[in-house]
Amino acid sequence: MTVIPLIPIFYKFNKMFFENSLISNQQPIVNLRWSDNRLKTTAGIYKRKKVGGIISSEIILSKPILENLPLNEIQSTLCHEMIHAWVDRILKINEIHGPNFQRKMIEINSLQNNFQISIKHNYPVIRNELKYKGQCINCGEVFMYRKRVKNLACKKCCVHFFNGVWNKKCLIKFE
Ligand SMILES: [Zn+2]
Ligand SMILES: [Zn+2]
Repeated sequence: MTVIPLIPIFYKFNKMFFENSLISNQQPIVNLRWSDNRLKTTAGIYKRKKVGGIISSEIILSKPILENLPLNEIQSTLCHEMIHAWVDRILKINEIHGPNFQRKMIEINSLQNNFQISIKHNYPVIRNELKYKGQCINCGEVFMYRKRVKNLACKKCCVHFFNGVWNKKCLIKFE
């Protein structure tokens, strides 16, 4: 599955919403890239680091989360991260979703109808599937887990029968 290039959208938004401030010497002042297939916890990230007094920052969009979503979700995520970049690099203010972020977000949302930016990315983030079945050897209840865990005891049974203390009589047995 290929993903769409981000640079053209970045240039367009930079002009429309950020008064071209996010470009310097014809280059975006933040790096821009798609993640590999592992970034599944968030749709987008804005990262900055300071090395030897020089600040560099980047926007990473999650390929596994966004590649199958409509364009407006990609636009909304990219624009959200661009606001972070703008607050950080242009306003030079240290805030996350504070008043400056929100003012810009509301402004951009009111300027167009193609996409809406929110503070919480409002689509489901893919979690690792709960694919392991474990059963309490005491009460028999089945629970689903992301991975097999050793020496895990059934919480319910521990609470009911052992004053909340771990006891091997109610270990979870994995298939
Ligand atoms: Zn954010
Ligand atoms: Zn149990």
